[in-house]
Amino acid sequence: MQKFINPASVALVGVPRKTGNGSFNNAETMLRYGYRGRIYPVNPHVGKICGLTAYAAMAELPEQADLAVISVGRDRVLPMLDDCIRSGIKRVIIITQGFADADAKGAELQKEIVKMARQNAVRIIGPNTMGVLNNFNRFTTSFVDADFPERFSPVSLIAQSGVIQVAAKNLAWNHWGKAIDIGNGCDIDFTDCLSYFAGDPETKIIVVHMEGMMRGNAFLKLAAEVTRQKPVIVFKTGRSRAGAKAALSHTGSLVGEDAVFDAAFRRAGIIRVRNASELKDAIHALMLMKEMKGRRLGILTVTGAGGIMGVDACEDYGLEVAALPNGLIKELEEGVPDWIHVTNPVDIWPIGMIGGRYRDVSRIALTELLKSPSVDGVLSIFPTTDSPLHTDLEMADMVAQARREAGSGKPLAIWPYVDVVSAIDRLEATEGVACFDTIEQAVFGLSVCYRYYRIRQRATPNPRSFDVDWPAIEPLLAEGRAQKLLTGDAALTLLSLFGIPAARGVTVTRREALLKAASALRFPLVLKLAGRAFLHKSEWDGVITGIKSGEELLQAFDTLVENVQRRNRDLAVDAVQLQEEAAGWELILGLKRDAQFGQVIACGLGGIYTEVFRDISRELVPIDRSMAFEMLASLKTYPLLTGARGKAGVDLDAVIDALERLSYLASKIPDIAELDINPLIASPTGCQAVDARILW
Ligand code: ADP
Ligand code: MG
Repeated sequence: MQKFINPASVALVGVPRKTGNGSFNNAETMLRYGYRGRIYPVNPHVGKICGLTAYAAMAELPEQADLAVISVGRDRVLPMLDDCIRSGIKRVIIITQGFADADAKGAELQKEIVKMARQNAVRIIGPNTMGVLNNFNRFTTSFVDADFPERFSPVSLIAQSGVIQVAAKNLAWNHWGKAIDIGNGCDIDFTDCLSYFAGDPETKIIVVHMEGMMRGNAFLKLAAEVTRQKPVIVFKTGRSRAGAKAALSHTGSLVGEDAVFDAAFRRAGIIRVRNASELKDAIHALMLMKEMKGRRLGILTVTGAGGIMGVDACEDYGLEVAALPNGLIKELEEGVPDWIHVTNPVDIWPIGMIGGRYRDVSRIALTELLKSPSVDGVLSIFPTTDSPLHTDLEMADMVAQARREAGSGKPLAIWPYVDVVSAIDRLEATEGVACFDTIEQAVFGLSVCYRYYRIRQRATPNPRSFDVDWPAIEPLLAEGRAQKLLTGDAALTLLSLFGIPAARGVTVTRREALLKAASALRFPLVLKLAGRAFLHKSEWDGVITGIKSGEELLQAFDTLVENVQRRNRDLAVDAVQLQEEAAGWELILGLKRDAQFGQVIACGLGGIYTEVFRDISRELVPIDRSMAFEMLASLKTYPLLTGARGKAGVDLDAVIDALERLSYLASKIPDIAELDINPLIASPTGCQAVDARILW
């Protein structure tokens, strides 16, 4: 990667003869950007380009360049690549578009590129890329001219489009330090770049712009390590395409592509931002404020209105308004009229105006907030202006002094308002301080600092293993794989072999056998249609609950047969499932196999409203006990599970146990495509699966 990002010499294959306006001449842009390495334009038609000697072919270069950049028409890319390879070049950027990004022919050509590269141990960035940018050595392969940025940060970008690189002013807070546009990613991909930036001392934050994933597992595994050292922010676009395709199970339709990305990023400790504004604020916050060790925010304001906005924003971004330290309240209330009461948000305007103590009061309050053990970070709201009538409102020195006196590294986000531009640099010169355009952005920024702290502290999952009876499991697996499906008692039996409790029951094929079968079970009973013709039994009116006697049981059987006949005369009821009735909350537990990331486990509100409320949490397999608990605790319906309004809660331990066991099952049977337990009926004394469907 060094030769891509930090080359001592570059061959430019396909530089236009023309320079100046409208020429997109990358020798010219490279020179103007200030690159100080050796540039070798390759063009058989001219002697000089931008004052540089041009060479007719790669073979004529005076040295073997570290890097070749190819930007010829698509049909000439392969011969040029061949030329580079023959002359011993090991690193090539292919700017040209029209490959896998275009048509079938392009996709073929791209395959050819990969083949040539692999055979010759040559690494490729692109095709269809802007290439790389390295502001630390003023290197760019961009064909769009840009001024060398006045400021840039140790923030490195991995993108799937050049626009993110070019629009740095809008997206990156300060300019990127380094950037790689992987384009079509035919060879060098996210994981290669992540691995490089992880070890790069000039990179403090890694940003990934992602449209789709490649080598998902490798990327996640690496990211899980990197995020303990440096923040990794992912801006994944294309959320709206997330709908699951024609899923057969509930879990299939509830675990869309985007939800899987969410779960995957969370697992790896990646900070996902939802839009470009969040991206910019997250970079800004992490660059200047770093970590926030808890969610309790102190708010110091000179305007009550601003304080209320700050409180609202806390609610939106998961922070809490801290309880104020007593000492601070006493100190501030001293000597002020007794109609002034200090609370959080601390509104210091009335106190500060009395006797012109505004700046002093601000400093005392800010110092105390930063010092207080009950405050993890501070939001500060004050006006800044260059007006000669308000030099007493100048706050940069006050902030620096408060920070020194408090001696803490807690983050301080400021919303300076009125004439702010000139003040920002002065304020941000103090360590741990960042200024934002709005209160919401400031609080969002702090919430990112808190998220990153949590990421660094997170425990490695420690999933349990279970002893299971494989000789009993194998035949069921064989059946499922052959039929591509297990339902009814077979599916429930497989689950119970993994220790997931299932309602007791039996499958019966003749009406005459029902009463005998029932004698081994406890009333009330449930009778359901069985067999693959009835995938969703309720849609056939195929489930009858509350059966209290043998007589009712026979009646129920006749009703089921009638219900089927009414809908389809030709369909026979070959079998029914007789089951003990369970009482409690209906949950759904499920699995879905994702092509990139493997098995995803889900749980949520079950029963007939599952798809209406879509109250579901999702994690990658495997999960451990605390993650299983978190999955339940993050549900909107969680308060119902713990008991609400006089109703008893459910046996959470039993549900957590079932989740752990399902995760274990998924890791042992990775070829399951989708699995639903719907419902798992949970009561104060345990839980039972009463219906399951497993698809291969
Ligand atoms: P399907 O999902 O194929 O329609 P289910 O077996 O899930 O069929 O049954 C539909 C509904 O019937 C369940 O959501 C539940 O409310 C109820 N039910 C089914 N079996 C039982 C049982 N053993 N105990 C209590 N309720 C049950
Ligand atoms: Mg069901």
